[in-house]
Amino acid sequence: MPWLTQLASVARKTGYPVTEVGGWKTRGHGPQQAVQGVVCHHTAGWNDRHIVVNGRPGLDGPLSHFWLQHTGRIWVVAAGRCWHNAPSTSSQHMNSTSIGIEAENDGKTAWPQVQLDAYEALCAELCREFGLPASRVKAHREVNTGKPDPHSINMTTFRGHVAALITHPGTPTRQEEDDVPEVISLGAGEDQDVPASGEMAVSWHTEYADDPPGHSADGVAIMAATARWCIVDGLVKVRGLKPGSEIDVAWSRYDRDGKEFDDNAWRLSFRADVNGRVETSVGGQFALNSKNQLRLRVINPTSSDAVVEKVTMAKISMFKR
Ligand SMILES: [Zn+2]
Repeated sequence: MPWLTQLASVARKTGYPVTEVGGWKTRGHGPQQAVQGVVCHHTAGWNDRHIVVNGRPGLDGPLSHFWLQHTGRIWVVAAGRCWHNAPSTSSQHMNSTSIGIEAENDGKTAWPQVQLDAYEALCAELCREFGLPASRVKAHREVNTGKPDPHSINMTTFRGHVAALITHPGTPTRQEEDDVPEVISLGAGEDQDVPASGEMAVSWHTEYADDPPGHSADGVAIMAATARWCIVDGLVKVRGLKPGSEIDVAWSRYDRDGKEFDDNAWRLSFRADVNGRVETSVGGQFALNSKNQLRLRVINPTSSDAVVEKVTMAKISMFKR
């Protein structure tokens, strides 16, 4: 087998970003004699592409054909033979017979999802290119005694995803499996009035979310981009009421524009304490979609103007449905 100058185009089939390291098509310890397997590694460091390209004291580069950045970007390092696995306990996973992928990780930090997804996709495209079954994808630790890498990856699960991707390229795997909710935490941020014989919807001034899935910041509406099951928990604090008087707190659904009231997912009554305060949490579970929105309302039928305090907050967990 000659130099593997198709590796960049194979990598691009994954859909993940690819960068070709200058000179990669002629980089290698001679040509690659055969491709019968793929070996997965972690680099045991960060920002260490130069080591994979150039080597380290006692071991000349290139060390592997790919360097897989923690962002999911695939760097093509070499088209020839690389020093990534010797001695090997598998004849199909020697330097002369296999492709090496060095994934950027210090050997203990949890893998970013995007990097794991790119890792599986790259292995699958390599299997497709070289006619290999997913069983030929091995962890370094599986084909070299005493090696720990890649850490914490269950290779049975990993190969299962690779097998699915060989058959159906582009199929998302982990996201569907894990069903991790999107969590939004909202804070009122400042005191807000709820007039006597009136009502208000809490305005959210602060939000805590890495990647908001779609809701109005600095407004009353909580929205989902697409259909979601939501578990909500609102912690409401109201002051200024007459002791013993009652107010209602409700999670209510409206149409998307907020003009038409739809229903109260939850509406409960609470009695003010001797200091004229209500401190309560109201939770519920219901569906949101692209046509509605959710508000946390405080309904005050009493004759006292009251204040919804700034420490009022809500946590919303959104699950795909
Ligand atoms: Zn390794």
